[in-house]
Amino acid sequence: MNRRLAQGMTADAPRVARRPADAVIALGSNLGNREHLIALALIDLDRLPMSRVAGAAEPIESVAVTLSGPDADAPRYLNTVARLTTRLAPTVLLGYMQAIEARHGRERTERWGDRTLDLDLIAYGDVRSDTATLTLPHPRARQRTFVLEPWLALDRDAVLPGAGRVDELLARLRAEGEA
Ligand code: AMP
Repeated sequence: MNRRLAQGMTADAPRVARRPADAVIALGSNLGNREHLIALALIDLDRLPMSRVAGAAEPIESVAVTLSGPDADAPRYLNTVARLTTRLAPTVLLGYMQAIEARHGRERTERWGDRTLDLDLIAYGDVRSDTATLTLPHPRARQRTFVLEPWLALDRDAVLPGAGRVDELLARLRAEGEA
């Protein structure tokens, strides 16, 4: 098995990476003081062990996407994307991200329901993972304008591993939206 894949899959995978990796994290909030919650989450990410926030895009507003599609009646989201330089292993990082969501009041009542804070690990270097708890890169990132747009604002040369350049993915999504 590919070593990178195995790294994310085994229970005894190293908790700390030998070299810092570039992680891409999407943050979203559609309840409460959204700006404040996102700012607090960025501070929390920057305070994680062996990690620092290398940049975060200006937040954008987007319509809520539910299981049945975009919902114009649901509270709108504020979304951003941050780059985190970290030596935490992907699964360990995801655990910390879930703790940050919990600290800021996220309740998991309904899949894709409203949430005070949602953190998704979009990519971790070019690591691939496909386990029950972690899929990398994030499987829906390429279909989400609210992820690709702030990511591109942060990094004009961003690449979603296995999918391609973020500017091209975004252009394709927009063209499909207009078709
Ligand atoms: P959500 O409720 O949309 O935040 O989804 C959280 C669930 O997705 C958790 O059970 C995670 O273990 C799982 N998951 C799988 N891959 C990822 C990822 N790349 N980023 C965040 N959560 C993930």
